[in-house]
Amino acid sequence: MNFKAELVACFGQPVAENPTGVMQEAAFAAAGLNWRYLTIEVAPEGLGDAVRGARAMGWRGFNCTIPHKVAVIPFLDELSREARIIGAVNTVRREGNRLIGENTDGRGFMRGLRQDAGMDPKGKRVVLLGAGGAARAIATELLLAGVEDLVVVNRSSERAAPMVEDLKQHGPIRFVPWGVSYEVSPETDLLVNATSLGLYPNVDWMPDVDLSRARCLVADAVFNPPVTKFLAAAQAQGLRTLDGLTMLVYQGVIGFEMWTGAKPDEAVMKLTLLAAMVK
Ligand code: NDP
Repeated sequence: MNFKAELVACFGQPVAENPTGVMQEAAFAAAGLNWRYLTIEVAPEGLGDAVRGARAMGWRGFNCTIPHKVAVIPFLDELSREARIIGAVNTVRREGNRLIGENTDGRGFMRGLRQDAGMDPKGKRVVLLGAGGAARAIATELLLAGVEDLVVVNRSSERAAPMVEDLKQHGPIRFVPWGVSYEVSPETDLLVNATSLGLYPNVDWMPDVDLSRARCLVADAVFNPPVTKFLAAAQAQGLRTLDGLTMLVYQGVIGFEMWTGAKPDEAVMKLTLLAAMVK
C-alpha cells in the first residue's frame, strides 16, 4: 500500500487563472498516477522559500510563470542548454536531489510544428513577430533546429535588438523594425505570432501584416481564444494554421514526460484545456 501522492506545482503571481493544473491533473488521473498539481500564488520575495520548501518535501518538480521565470534560476542546481540560451525557466524537474531548470515553451511549439503541422523547420525561412519571452523561446528552438533564415519583426528595438545579438551565435537571425504593415513574402515558409496581440480580452486585435502574397504556414502563440483573429484571417486567405493551444498542450505534455517518465494521453490534455477555457 502507498498513500503518498507525488507533488508538482505552478508558482506564479497572479496565477489563479493559469489552466495548466487542470490539464495535468486530468492527465495524471487518465494515467492512473497518484500525483497532484497545485497552483500556488508565490510573491517574488517568497520564491526562494517556495523552492526550498519544494526541495525539502521532495516534490517531483514545478512550473514557473510570471514573474518567476528568470528569478528562479539562482535557486536551481543546473539548467538545460535551451534554458541557458533562453535565459528563462518554465519547468523544473528533480533528478535525485538536484533541481534542473528547463524551458518547454519553445519545445512545445516545435512539437506542434512537427507533429500536427508536419513541418521540419530545418532549412526553412521564418518570420517571427515579437521579442518577448515566448518569441525568445521559439527563436532559440528554431535556430537550434537549423532554420535557413529567421527574421524577428518587433514594434520596439529595446528587447528585439539584444535578443537578436545574443542568439546570432546559434544561427541566421536578424531584426526588422515593424513599419506600418509587414509584408510577408511568398518565399516565407513559416510566420509565427509571438506577440500578445489578440489575447483575451483584446480578441479584436491582430498583428499588422500583409498576407496577400503569403504562401506560408501561419502559427500563433496566443492560446485564448484558440482561433485568434489573426489565424482566422490567415485561414480566409487559404493558408494553413497552427494554434497556440497546441503549443500550450505540448509544453504540458513535455513537462508530464519529464516529471513522470511516462507518456500522457495528449487528447485528454487538449480536451480538458479546451473545456476549461470555454467556462
Ligand atoms: P511579453 O510581454 O514578454 O512580450 C510581448 C510581445 O508582444 C513583445 O514583443 C511586444 O512588443 C509585443 N506587443 C505587445 N503589445 C503590442 C502591440 N500593441 N503592438 C505590437 N506588439 C506588441 O509576452 P510573452 O512573450 O510572455 O507572451 C506573448 C504571447 O505568447 C502571450 O499572448 C502569451 O499568452 C503567449 N504564450 C503562449 C504560450 C503557449 O504555450 N501557447 C507560452 C508562452 C506565452 P514590444 O517588445 O515592442 O513591447
